[in-house]
Amino acid sequence: MPTDKQVPPGSRVAVIGAGVAGIMAASTLKQAGVEVDLYEKEERAGGHLNRWHHLFPGREEASLVREGYLQQLREHSLSLMLSAEVKAIVREPEGPAGGRFRVTTAAGDSRDYGAVLLATGFRLFDAALKEEYGYGIYPRVLTSPELEQRLSPGGAGLDTETGPPKRVAFVHCVGSRDAKVGNRYCSRVCCITGVKQAMAVRERYPGCEVINFYMDLRMFGSGYEELYQEAQEVHGVNFIRGRVSEAAKTLGGAIQVKAEDTLLGRPLKVTVDWLVLLVGMEPSLSAELLASLALESDQAGFVASRDKFLQPGQSSADGVFLAGACGGPASLPESVNQARAAALSVITYLNRKG
Ligand SMILES: Cc1cc2nc3c(=O)[nH]c(=O)nc-3n(C[C@H](O)[C@H](O)[C@H](O)COP(=O)(O)OP(=O)(O)OC[C@H]3O[C@@H](n4cnc5c(N)ncnc54)[C@H](O)[C@@H]3O)c2cc1C
Ligand code: SF4
Repeated sequence: MPTDKQVPPGSRVAVIGAGVAGIMAASTLKQAGVEVDLYEKEERAGGHLNRWHHLFPGREEASLVREGYLQQLREHSLSLMLSAEVKAIVREPEGPAGGRFRVTTAAGDSRDYGAVLLATGFRLFDAALKEEYGYGIYPRVLTSPELEQRLSPGGAGLDTETGPPKRVAFVHCVGSRDAKVGNRYCSRVCCITGVKQAMAVRERYPGCEVINFYMDLRMFGSGYEELYQEAQEVHGVNFIRGRVSEAAKTLGGAIQVKAEDTLLGRPLKVTVDWLVLLVGMEPSLSAELLASLALESDQAGFVASRDKFLQPGQSSADGVFLAGACGGPASLPESVNQARAAALSVITYLNRKG
């Protein structure tokens, strides 16, 4: 445990967002003796992880992993403010109390801090913008987060009026790598999410054929390639390199998918009980917050690091740090690593200041 000399007293830190990144950053700071307030706009902590079923690459129960993170909150008696959306962060001149940032919530409460750590995560691409897939029009077209919910304990599953599903298809890169919707970047985790979900469907409905339509597969993480092999060899998931051009409802309520197999160079038509759209991640930090802190963002709109190589957890603004998916698409382990590293940068900054 560091001494008071190492961590100046009175230097509180505001962590914005109590997803995995925010929880891990706040608990790391608290363990180092820094006082932290953790702001969360929702009614519970955990962020998007609250909505997932199994996790890639190890297929752990998401609820158990989430419990491990929540345990961090309890163990370190973190000051967590729920239903507390941060609306404004204003840099103030140095005062006697050393407060440099005034953080104000939607309810109008304000407090001063020595540093701010952004862990506001991401939002999901709105699949209705890709009209050709019929999301929001045909009930049997789902997004990947909706499938997570359906497969979770107590979820609706994929049974139809005629019984268990016979065929399910996934479409990769929905809202990512797509200049038409303004998102040229790869969302990084949707390929492996598609593999994880395809395996989950095959396990729950062994008689169901599963097809993943992909542009190319990006299995960059540790254990991802192995999971992809397992999906094919053990679970019999079909991966077709192809572009889905259109989805339409059949008379029976199923979905007819038109695609092109780009490896064989031939058009395809398949009828599926469910079509699952692997939606990408988009920046979620409001334009007001970006502007009030004079923060730079990257080409995609995610909060930019000051220096990707040397100071990845530090934003372009002095005293403002970032971790997790607010800086760009990231997995849970990556978000945790970033959170711990950003917390260390905050401590270094406070020490230098004090
Ligand atoms: C369909 C899908 C499945 C996935 N499955 C996996 C998986 O199996 N394994 C894996 O490793 N990763 C998975 N991921 C990725 C994982 O969800 C992210 O890595 C993780 O959620 C990032 O955590 P975060 O804390 O950065 O952001 P988030 O989870 O988005 O949390 C951010 C938090 O900040 C809060 N917030 C935002 N703005 C404010 C504000 N102004 N004031 C206060 N609070 C605010 C939000 O309410 C939220 O609680 C999946 C992603 C998707 C899309
Ligand atoms: S991770 Fe895969 S599905 Fe997601 S955008 Fe990248 S290539 Fe497409």
